[in-house]
Amino acid sequence: MKDLNKQFQQIDELLQNAKKVLIASHERPDSDAVASELALHNFFIAQNIESLPYLPGLPPGNLNFLPRFFDIKTEIGSFGPDILFCLDYGDFKRLNLPEDIIKSDFSNVITIDHHVASDQKGGIKIIEPHFSSTSEIVYHWLKYKNIDINKEIATCLLTGIISDSGGFRHVSTSAGTLGIVSELLLTGVSLNKIVRQTMTFGEPLNFSKAWGSVLSRSRVDENTKLAYSSISFNDLNKLGVSLMDFDGITNLVSTASPINLGLFLVEYKENKIKGSLRSEPHGGRDVVKIAKALGGGGHPYAAGFEQEGTIDETLQKVLKLLE
Ligand code: 5GP
Ligand code: MN
Repeated sequence: MKDLNKQFQQIDELLQNAKKVLIASHERPDSDAVASELALHNFFIAQNIESLPYLPGLPPGNLNFLPRFFDIKTEIGSFGPDILFCLDYGDFKRLNLPEDIIKSDFSNVITIDHHVASDQKGGIKIIEPHFSSTSEIVYHWLKYKNIDINKEIATCLLTGIISDSGGFRHVSTSAGTLGIVSELLLTGVSLNKIVRQTMTFGEPLNFSKAWGSVLSRSRVDENTKLAYSSISFNDLNKLGVSLMDFDGITNLVSTASPINLGLFLVEYKENKIKGSLRSEPHGGRDVVKIAKALGGGGHPYAAGFEQEGTIDETLQKVLKLLE
């Protein structure tokens, strides 16, 4: 925590003269990306600092219960930020930021991320993979600042922590994580409401049918012990679901593998594949290595990537990398 406090102090110094702050996170944002962004936005509102929460693509609609969700913009327009907070992204290109707002030495960029070191940028780079979520690191910054965490900020932080820890199941869930959750709940936020909202997706029947279809077609590769399944662009349309409706399904696919090694592939546009990989410590497979070899990133036990081509071609690439 000592080194972290030094970096927190550097953030405060950089913020001192800032009038406009841009908060950015990654394309196809997950709950932690959106929630950590809105936690900071709600904080800046409380501090009377002008901030713009930006995402390069629309956030999942089920997160619309998060305070100030509708402030999120997918265009930066003429907002000229002094400082950019870049959150939870792994690779800088996933932020899709216009070059003219970034200083060439990245000195106006602050990164806060819990992905393994990949291609993060910034004059200040806080990269702490042992934390459950980016939201957990944001919590520590606010505590360092001695900020009274209000209910709005607590709602955002809890959402990020609960979802990115896989409902407290992932190895990165520590005693510290649960201590923070306990403290945040004292602001009066309903844990049950957050859990329900983050697990609510599109139309319930379409959703069940789509998950049923994916899970019933799971297979295990004998050689690598990889459990895998997929859904084609055609089936997405037929079932009336989208990529966002499958958040968390790879954890279930992976249960078919004796070492909990799982892969889920979605053809979210014709010949555009998004891959999700999961594993557990007992299997000894570091999935971020596989994801990185395919141009992606993430964590040792949860990682993702994108590929052009067919589902089968992508599966073969992953199997080859696992051999
Ligand atoms: P998921 O499989 O749930 O989409 O992602 C698992 C983890 O890998 C998350 O931390 C996510 O941010 C990261 N991840 C997913 N897709 C990509 C990708 O295309 N590139 C990078 N760098 N990270 C990814
Ligand atoms: Mn994320």
